[in-house]
Amino acid sequence: MRVLLIEDEPGLGQAVQEHIAAAGHAVDWVLRLDDAEASLRAVDYGLVLLDLHLPDGAGLDLLRTLRRRGDARPVIILTARDQIRDRIDGLNAGADDYLVKPFDLDELRARVAAVARRYAGNPNPIVRLGTLDIDQANRQISQAGKRIDLTGREWAILEQLLRRPNGIVTKEQLEEALYPFGAEIESNTIEVHVSRLRKKLGRDFVTTLRGMGYRLEQA
Ligand code: CA
Repeated sequence: MRVLLIEDEPGLGQAVQEHIAAAGHAVDWVLRLDDAEASLRAVDYGLVLLDLHLPDGAGLDLLRTLRRRGDARPVIILTARDQIRDRIDGLNAGADDYLVKPFDLDELRARVAAVARRYAGNPNPIVRLGTLDIDQANRQISQAGKRIDLTGREWAILEQLLRRPNGIVTKEQLEEALYPFGAEIESNTIEVHVSRLRKKLGRDFVTTLRGMGYRLEQA
């Protein structure tokens, strides 16, 4: 999933970026609202992490603007401990969740995943796909009791496919979800990851539709 992080504290921003990226998500990190607006125009983000006090204005104004124009993408606000009013205002302005600084990075990751699942229409983290038992919350897969280990990138691709169970996910959508601005992407990177997924999960679990993309097979 492609995540936009809007946070002007360098230490916190870097820690969040690294932790979310380690889970296989692509994170674009900006420190100002104007950069955030430009990024939002350019990319279809799966989720936004929004600090409220930024050098060029209030995060809540951005949130209200998004909701006014009918933009329903998930937003988690990041607030300081003593700003209860901010949290209430944030939820009332259309935020999906909030985290109080300083927060635990694993909790952040869990909330990001939970909000993304709700947004995709299935809050249940446990999915059964053919002979595979997929636990998205704990990132564990087993097949007939045998555990299968995936890399962060492989998980990120699987999550994108699970989000559109009967639809086609294009290579471009996967690249946009997996790689932030400025990342070097080899033209066959996605194919390589998908073929590794096939090796691990079974040859038939995802179909390649030439020139169109990939589709998860439910059978
Ligand atoms: Ca701030």
